[in-house]
Amino acid sequence: MTTETVLETIDANLSAATERLFDFLRIPSISTDPAFAQDCRRAADWLCGQLRDLGCDAGVRATPGHPIVVGHAKAKRPDAPHVLFYGHYDVQPPDPLDKWTSGPFQPRLAEGEHGKEIVARGASDDKGQLMTFLEACRAFQANGGLPCHIVFLFEGEEETGSPSLPAFFAANREELSVADLALVCDTSMWNHETPAITTMLRGLAQEEVVIHGPDRDLHSGLFGGPVRNPIHVLAKIIGDLHDAEGRVTLPDFYDGVAELPDEIAAQWRALDFDEAAFLKSVGVSQAAGEIGRSVMEKIWSRPTCDVNGIYGGYMGPGAKTVLPAKAGAKVSFRLVGRQNPEKILESFRAFVRERLPADARAEFVTHGASPALQLPFDSEALARARRALGQEWGKEAALIGCGGSIPIVGAFKVQLGLDALMIGFALDDDRIHSPNEKYAFDSFHKGTRSWARVLAALAA
Ligand SMILES: [Zn+2]
Repeated sequence: MTTETVLETIDANLSAATERLFDFLRIPSISTDPAFAQDCRRAADWLCGQLRDLGCDAGVRATPGHPIVVGHAKAKRPDAPHVLFYGHYDVQPPDPLDKWTSGPFQPRLAEGEHGKEIVARGASDDKGQLMTFLEACRAFQANGGLPCHIVFLFEGEEETGSPSLPAFFAANREELSVADLALVCDTSMWNHETPAITTMLRGLAQEEVVIHGPDRDLHSGLFGGPVRNPIHVLAKIIGDLHDAEGRVTLPDFYDGVAELPDEIAAQWRALDFDEAAFLKSVGVSQAAGEIGRSVMEKIWSRPTCDVNGIYGGYMGPGAKTVLPAKAGAKVSFRLVGRQNPEKILESFRAFVRERLPADARAEFVTHGASPALQLPFDSEALARARRALGQEWGKEAALIGCGGSIPIVGAFKVQLGLDALMIGFALDDDRIHSPNEKYAFDSFHKGTRSWARVLAALAA
């Protein structure tokens, strides 16, 4: 059997594959609404049936929330690599219903800007993406077997923050960590003709600080002047967090932040990202932040400090001449590379304490910290997957970053010790979580073919 034969099987069975995806899309597996709990269960059972069709040893596992589907499939070669594929079967509520041109759970093909598209809730996020992988596996099974050993892991609570996953990972660590690598499919292409692999996700550390001053709110006429105002103290400290070049001033903040390899920097430049259009889309004309760095670099590969909320004094209608007893701010840091989130929060607390004048006191509340994730640029799996995607799309796959975080990827790394290869075929205009969600038919078809090539390449 060659990969070509598997690709031919995928092409020949495309309409049956589309029907299967449509069956899946008809199940309204809305995880956040208890009224749809039975439908979530139905989606889990349906997936379990698909896995058993593929010859998997599969089961639907109960959790305190919606069930998790786990399946194991063996490769034809015992010494093949072992991968864990993750997807989710739950979807967001379809509201507002009147903005849909057809029923959200009545999938249909429509004509879009770049050809046919599949319109339904979950078409892109994540049922269509998930099925590209299953259909690739099905084609291998029809041609003598899988090239990799595979653990399939499908959860039904991604859209509600995956509350059951950490305990599930802890309880099933041995079973799940037989894999050497996780494959995560709910990411996007760079554009409709350029595939992408997401290799870096920024981490996040969040701290709230409250500055206390006088022992009660005061009349600013009777006390203003001699009594220091905590809002002023807080504002000064926040102002000190960045220097004139846009850099964060916390001591040792940039420890663990590496410059991009030249090859990656050149590749990002070649993506020809339209900075002006990006800024204009949010009503901004000039990029802020670190001087001398591109917008893309700032979002994907540089750390930041942002104040997300600030409070103190009188906030009601009209005016009140109060000198408040306290003022607070919620501060967050986006992290990259090997920055240590705990150390950064410690450094932030020390930074605040050093700047407290007489009679001021700081109180801190931590709101969580997670490190950045980086698939090493010299990873062999990454190189193979990149070549495979290039063969399918006729364009080299972009190695991109993601400014936000994908919590599941952190859980794979921290709880199971697995790096994740993030490959998905969604497009930025898929309207996920919005009315008329769609998945390009090309994403579905070529996405399936892409997984066939990637699995073959990982095993070669
Ligand atoms: Zn989603």
